[in-house]
Amino acid sequence: MKLENEVSRRRFLEIGSATLAAAGVAGALSKTAGARGQESAAGGEPGQNSSSPVPQNPALATENPDSVTPPSTDHGNVEPFKYPFSVSHKRVEEGGWARQVTVQDLPIATTLAGVNMRLTAGGIRELHWHSAAEWAFMLAGSARITAITPIGKSFVSDVHEGDVWNFPSGIPHSIQGLGPDGCEFLLVFDDGAFSEYDTVQLTDWVAHTPREVLSKNFGVPPTAFDNSPKHELYIFQGEVPGPLAEDRSAAAGTAGISPVSFDYHFRAQTPDKSTKGGEVRIVDSKNFPAATTIAAALVLVHPGGMREMHWHPNADEWMYFIKGKGRMTVFAASGRARTMDFDAGDVGYVQKTFAHYIENTGDGDLEFLEMFRSSYYQDISLNNWLSHVPPELVQAHLRIDKATLDAIPKEEDVIVPA
Ligand code: MN
Ligand code: MN
Repeated sequence: MKLENEVSRRRFLEIGSATLAAAGVAGALSKTAGARGQESAAGGEPGQNSSSPVPQNPALATENPDSVTPPSTDHGNVEPFKYPFSVSHKRVEEGGWARQVTVQDLPIATTLAGVNMRLTAGGIRELHWHSAAEWAFMLAGSARITAITPIGKSFVSDVHEGDVWNFPSGIPHSIQGLGPDGCEFLLVFDDGAFSEYDTVQLTDWVAHTPREVLSKNFGVPPTAFDNSPKHELYIFQGEVPGPLAEDRSAAAGTAGISPVSFDYHFRAQTPDKSTKGGEVRIVDSKNFPAATTIAAALVLVHPGGMREMHWHPNADEWMYFIKGKGRMTVFAASGRARTMDFDAGDVGYVQKTFAHYIENTGDGDLEFLEMFRSSYYQDISLNNWLSHVPPELVQAHLRIDKATLDAIPKEEDVIVPA
């Protein structure tokens, strides 16, 4: 049955090529073929069979060459695994903005949701907490973050580009942009349905509590809250805070400073793996004990390099592309494979155990984050697997000679070079 389908597909391609060639447009249409591996099954110009004679969205087509002209190895129905923050609604407030990608936007992303947030210098993401744990990566600039532990110990710290933080479920916290230009960061929550616009805010609670209760709770006159906001502030403009040491000691009081560190200098960490193709850093509860539910990898792929063929046995993968251009192919078993293209600011998602790889398709470095709802990072490399089963067994499957098998790297490189 498969053979018949292949024969009829080739017949179709032959007829298509002949018609287009006769019309003299084959050369022009073939220029639309930019993607890899668009084989010329019938010997004609590649890409003719994927061209379109009606108007298309040219910007999206340019950004998504592997959707316009899929690799010939792509096949079947693989659910979409990309959602760009660029098409999310941006909630703009005095002091900054936020936009999110949740399971509503990307239906397969059931385990994690993400928020991209910008705070101006002095801009405050107000004191709040929520049901999900919050893991974050600072993309640019600096911020002052605060939290307390369940036994009332204070945490105040300044975070900079490449730092991460993690606030467990229910731990109250705040974020404020510092000088000179505030900050921008990524938040990742351990619940795909979590909405950043549905958190417990200090101002919201106070606005919805009777004055008499506030008076009794705080031991002050009811009029003390006459100027308090009637609605939540969420993000608002404040003054750039003073020196960290002063804020720290003012917040500590008599209870003291938290023995738990909620932040970690992730980018400053020595790479866990460094090869000719790039490098990878891993952060999970082993080196950052506060991150009990989210593990992550920061991956750098040099031009032409590739995050090798692999999968994750323990969790779904939520990805954020920091810089560069890449494409990811997901193989979902039963002959189903799909390739999608990624730019900076895009979110990707790969379901647990689904095979995948990511190629750098740009001229510069490609950098992205991989996040997992797990206390530990784990992956399995195809190279590593095939090198650690009896050689005859692999040869019998792939019909490759011993020299080819011997050439396969014996250890997991994570990133393979061009
Ligand atoms: Mn939060
Ligand atoms: Mn992966």
